[in-house]
Amino acid sequence: MSDESSADVPSDPSTELSEPSSEASDSSSETIDKSSASSIPEEASFVVHFIDVGQGDAALIVCDGEAMMIDGGSSDKSELIYSYLKKNEITNLKYIVATHPDDDHMGGLSGALNFATVERAFCSVNESDGWAFENFQKYLTKQNVAIEIPSAGTTLPLGSAEVTVLAPIETLEEVNNNSIVIRIVYGNTSFLFTGDAEFSEEGTILTSGQEIKSDVLKVGHHGSEYSSSSTFLNEVAPSVAVISCGTNNDYGFPKQRVLDSLKNQDVQLFRTDLCGDILIYSDGETLYVSPEKALSDDPFVAPPPLEIDPADIPDCDYVVNKSSGKFHLPNCESVAKMSEKNKWCYEGDRETLIEEGYEPCQMCNP
Ligand SMILES: [Zn+2]
Ligand SMILES: [Zn+2]
Repeated sequence: MSDESSADVPSDPSTELSEPSSEASDSSSETIDKSSASSIPEEASFVVHFIDVGQGDAALIVCDGEAMMIDGGSSDKSELIYSYLKKNEITNLKYIVATHPDDDHMGGLSGALNFATVERAFCSVNESDGWAFENFQKYLTKQNVAIEIPSAGTTLPLGSAEVTVLAPIETLEEVNNNSIVIRIVYGNTSFLFTGDAEFSEEGTILTSGQEIKSDVLKVGHHGSEYSSSSTFLNEVAPSVAVISCGTNNDYGFPKQRVLDSLKNQDVQLFRTDLCGDILIYSDGETLYVSPEKALSDDPFVAPPPLEIDPADIPDCDYVVNKSSGKFHLPNCESVAKMSEKNKWCYEGDRETLIEEGYEPCQMCNP
């Protein structure tokens, strides 16, 4: 794709068809939004399934009969991933990628490993505490597959598509910023998967000078305010963006700042919390977007902040989410949304919590 080319994309996501512009350069891809898969041409032999896993990420990519997965949602989505592969008759995954060892990305991959055989497995680390990682490793060992840490610049074939690992380039401090970032090129169309990369990892990718311009962007870290810098979005210049996030998630994802940037760039936006599963087909020139549910709400509007009744604010120093391992100030919005079984009201200081392996919430900064 040349730098100056831009796809002729309608800004109204309900638009059925975008006529190719006569001025558009040859290399620009075209986007067609179809709510039914019936009109997708047979030549569209590349497809990405952004699977709705609630709060988390999961993508299945199939090209010329070969398949790979990038993340699989949280542990409680293992059965969903198992059934999804079964329904689509994906019995072999050429590659399985856990972008980083957080449960909302890696947990559900157990379901994939229980259904399909895997040829190669990648993760940003080959050691990590936690149940999700242990299961991932356990099921891979059963298949005699070792976890590989891919280096930036690695390319892998998937059918006639080319998969390139862009990052991590250097080891950064925080697990999200060591996410494996992958770009896939199929014909004249390209797709960027950013895991939970935030500003610092985006910065290392920009500095590296690698090609990141992509027609489809899986928006970083579920639309977090600490991801998708304007420089990064400008360089990727997507025509279609997908945000994978859960309805009423604890974090208030996606954030308005990110949504505004995408809207300003005239990006066609799809969100798993509004659309369910989102399938994007490519024939090498044209993208066909097929969401499970048509958009009824404006995707560029962030979920409203929760109104918290002061009587519901726990009377303690911090509130720990036993499931995510994050701790919060008692008046944080996440506490109001947290299920009672995950809630641990803690009396003590923050240093002790950090020493015990809990992480401070990035929203309330306890
Ligand atoms: Zn995540
Ligand atoms: Zn993460």
